[in-house]
Order: sequence, then structure tokens, then C-alpha cells
Amino acid sequence: MAAADMAHVLVFPIPAQGHLNSFLHFSTGLLRAGLHVTFLHTDHNLRRLGAAVREAAAASPRLRFLSVPDGLPDDDPRDVGGIPQLLEGLRTTASAAYRDLLASLRRAGGTADGFPPVTCVVADGIMPFAWDIAEELGVPAIAYRTVSACSVLAYLSVPKLIELGELPFPEGGDLDEPIRGVPGMESFLRRRDLPVQCRSLTNTYQDPLLEAVVAATVHSRKARALMLNTTASLERSSLAHLAREMRDVFAVGPLHAMSPAPAVATSLWRHDDGCLAWLDSQAERSVVYISLGSLTVISHEQFTEFLHGLVAAGYPFLWVLRPDMLGASQDAALQEAIAAAGEGRSCVVPWVPQRDVLRHRAVGCFLTHSGWNSTIEGVVEGVPMVCWPFFVDQQVNSRFVGAVWRNGLDMKDVCERGVVEGTVRVAMESAEVRRTARALAEQVERDIADGGASALEFKRLVSFIRELSS
Ligand code: UDP
Repeated sequence: MAAADMAHVLVFPIPAQGHLNSFLHFSTGLLRAGLHVTFLHTDHNLRRLGAAVREAAAASPRLRFLSVPDGLPDDDPRDVGGIPQLLEGLRTTASAAYRDLLASLRRAGGTADGFPPVTCVVADGIMPFAWDIAEELGVPAIAYRTVSACSVLAYLSVPKLIELGELPFPEGGDLDEPIRGVPGMESFLRRRDLPVQCRSLTNTYQDPLLEAVVAATVHSRKARALMLNTTASLERSSLAHLAREMRDVFAVGPLHAMSPAPAVATSLWRHDDGCLAWLDSQAERSVVYISLGSLTVISHEQFTEFLHGLVAAGYPFLWVLRPDMLGASQDAALQEAIAAAGEGRSCVVPWVPQRDVLRHRAVGCFLTHSGWNSTIEGVVEGVPMVCWPFFVDQQVNSRFVGAVWRNGLDMKDVCERGVVEGTVRVAMESAEVRRTARALAEQVERDIADGGASALEFKRLVSFIRELSS
């Protein structure tokens, strides 16, 4: 086998839907470039994905799926409230199993399935242990953060914000005050646009999730490179600032548009394809599509307020209400949402094939929690957005949508019926927002086309991996 063909990347995402999706798209790109890929899941998710994973591996002889335990009991809900425990389980239980596994995979003949030794690791940028262990074992490692460059830069700036006295916020302080100290964002970033955990910081309390993400971000300076699922034309300024801090930065996205992978292979829930037939029956650009991602949980009060605003706006809607989103009141809420919209004017389902939904001619706007995958999926399809951000990077992303790219509106912290009604109306009706969203989509399309910024970055990354592997 030629040296280039021996390049074999072990990819290791944290076991959350958005991360799995972008790692799968990345893997598809590597496979198309001729590399081997070992995709490392957790045992729990590999079981949950079952046949879909076996089919994906069977379709590609250079792809295999392996797994390590995540350290959590089987009946743990693995929801957003448990992220700190999940990260801890990964840092302890998963890391020990990963070390043993990688030690055997990096040797020729380490496994019986004919795969060459692993020559490079691309691990989730919030699992620094994964690239530390790889380097200890002599395998070069790249950090892949599946979020926006602007949010990575915001996290990287947290120590400086503390030094400047911008953090913690003064008690009872105005969240609309501007924030100094995040490079390139001083003219538009407010306290409320920083990752939401910044709000719970006090002089005596450190938020464990914020602490973990900031520590991982700072630590990514040590990785051989930082890879991001974004594009230069969307995030030029943030990328330039990050490039000064990291050993190298690759902006290779949006990967889902460059290397389409079968969505089922990483979807933790079953798609409801019936929603596409329902969309077929709706008029062009008439439907509000609502999804708050794979982790967000909402209260019954938020649900009621939101539903009232949505119904008052008067458009048909397609709403993803995951089974674990509302706790005990889920079933009643579902019936309420369907009844409130009126006959045939709503479709409420647990999970949809989001990409197919976003590109459907009937969808007029996307009401999103501003997770990064959802954000770039909406950008690529040129759909105007209404942002209702909840946690981690979502506050920063939604500010970029509302104030920088202007392809949508940022509801931010206000889930009141009047605000929901008003922002949805603007997103559905404003010719200017629609034009801006379309222009942004065209710009990103140029980035991913042959010779475009992201396409060139992906080639540069593959050469870099081959060099590290030789
Ligand atoms: N998604 C999907 N079907 C749904 C809702 C979401 O396939 O009904 C996908 C969506 O396309 C995206 C991912 O789930 O790729 C969610 O990732 P994101 O980063 O937006 O948010 P997170 O779930 O991490 O909060």
C-alpha cells in the first residue's frame, strides 16, 4: 500500500447528537480522500444506533465503528443536566479504555480486521485527555471543536475577561451592557451574548461546565491543530484571532454540505418521514419549522407561552418535540399544540430528517436553539431564522445571526408570547431578512465549491494528516 493510503484516522467525538453528526460528515470527507477511519463511539450509543452503524460500515470497507464505555449507568438519561457527569465519565472511564484501545490500534496487526495501524487522532475539542493520551502513545492528535469559531474565541477569552473585571458580572447588573475583551466583537457583544454559564459565575462560585469548556479551549493550544466546522467567509475575524493563539487552524465547513453522509448512521432518534409528506401538502414558504436540538429541555410555562405566540402568528408549523423535552407533561403538551393550531395546520413529531426539512420549499423560517449544527444547516439552505438560545455556545451564535450576519432575529432570553409572535412574523415576511439569508447561503456555497476557501482548507487538512501519518 502506498504511504498515502496508510493514513488512518481515529475520530473520537463526545457522545452528543450534534458532535456525532459533524464527526460523521468529517469521516465521510476523509473516506472520500482515500484515508481509513475508525469512528469511536460510546458503548451506549453504538448499541442505540445498532443496525444503522453496521450498514454504514458495510457500505465502506475503510470505515469501522468501535466503542468504549462512557462510565454512566445504562438507565442514565444522558440529558443536558448530566453533561458535567458525562464529561467526568469520559475523562475517567472512557479515557482508560481509550488508552488501551489506541495502544493496540497503533501497532500493525493490533486488530484482526486488516485495518492499518492508526496514524492520527482527531478528537473532540472538549476532551483534551484524548489528544494528550494519543501524543503520549506517539500518535499525533488534532482537536476538532464542532462549534463556531466565534464561540471558541469567546471561551478562550474568559480568563482575560476575569482579569479585566468584566467577569463575574456585577450582581443585578444590566445584561445589555457591552463586553470588552473578546477580540473583534467589542462593537456588538453584550453580557447576555456570552455563553450562558458566565451569568452564574460569582467571586466564590465557578460553574463546572464553564470551567471544563474554558480549560479544554485553552488546552487546545497544545494540539497539533484546531479544526472547526466553519468557513472563512462567515467567521473571518474570529478565525484570524484564533490563528494567532493555536499551532494551526483549519476551517473546513460546513462539512454536512461538503461531504453528505447518511443521516441515519448517527441519528439517536428515529426520523419521522411523515413530516415530509405533510410539508408537501403546504404552500411555498408558509411553514414555521421549530427544533431546539437534541438536548434542550423546556418548562411547561415556556411551552405554553411559546405555543400562544406561535399560534397567534398564524402560520402552519412543524415542531420537533422530542420525547424527553417536557418531562411528564409531554403527551398533554403534544395534544395541546396540535389542537391549538387547528385542523391540518400543524405537524408535531419527535424527530425529523432536519436537512430535508430545511431545504423543503414549504419552510418559511427556522425557529432554532442556535446549536452550531442547526445554525450552519439553516445558513446553507438560506432559511431565515428566529433564535431562542439556551446554553453553551448558543448565545454567541444567536448574536451573530441577529447582529452580524443578519439572516434572522435573536429572541435571546425572552420567550414571551408577544415576542414569539412578532419575531416569527418578521422572519416569515421580511424580504430583507430573506435576501440576506439567501446571499449568505450563496457565499457559503462558493466556499465549499471546488477551489473555494473551505474546499482548499479541507485539502490542506488531508495533506497535513498525511504528513503527520508518514
Ligand atoms: N436534528 C435532526 N432532527 C431533528 C432535530 C435535530 O436530525 O429533529 C439534528 C440537526 O440536523 C443537527 C443536530 O441534530 O445536526 C443538532 O445539533 P446542534 O448542534 O444544532 O444542537 P445540539 O443538539 O447539539 O444542542
